[in-house]
Amino acid sequence: MDETTHFDELEQLAMSLGATNVAIRSAAEIQVEEELVSFCKNPRCPNYGLSPSCPPHVSGPDGFRKLLEDRSHVLVVRIVVPSSVLFSGERRELMAFLHELVATVELAAIENGYTKSKAFAGGSCKDLFCFADDDCNVLGGKGDCRNPDRARQSMSGFGVNVSHLIKTCGWESNIKIKDPSDDLMNWVAGIVLLG
Ligand code: SF4
Repeated sequence: MDETTHFDELEQLAMSLGATNVAIRSAAEIQVEEELVSFCKNPRCPNYGLSPSCPPHVSGPDGFRKLLEDRSHVLVVRIVVPSSVLFSGERRELMAFLHELVATVELAAIENGYTKSKAFAGGSCKDLFCFADDDCNVLGGKGDCRNPDRARQSMSGFGVNVSHLIKTCGWESNIKIKDPSDDLMNWVAGIVLLG
């Protein structure tokens, strides 16, 4: 199989699941920056340390660079929404949806022979999926993740420069268009490393 054989199918899958934009780029185009990880701790994210998906429990920029060594491409997904959604009660639902979308594409990629594929999204899985639980099942030592097919690690903890990646895809990072209700538009993004 040529390494790009199933790329169209994976892009179409992401679009059919609800992505606004999808692109596949060389994994070498991803910029990873130590400084971005510091924003998880300062100012401290309320979800810092609450799941294995976020610092200090993730391998950070060095670990991410290692992942890039044997993954050739990255599928980038963007969902454009009215800005007000990100500051409303719908935010959690949107971010959980983003996790589920990239997780589904990752599992499809693995099924299609890209066995090292690995998805990442934004936001803490503790906040998005286990907010009603006292603690993460894994960190609490009670067993496996409650949401293995839905929750993925957060890009922030690995220092992925998402804005740069969005520009690499040729998408505007500042969206000025307004929806019919006169709301400015914003976006959230996730990635699937393919390899
Ligand atoms: S059980 Fe899974 S989804 Fe829940 S916080 Fe832990 S790692 Fe995240």
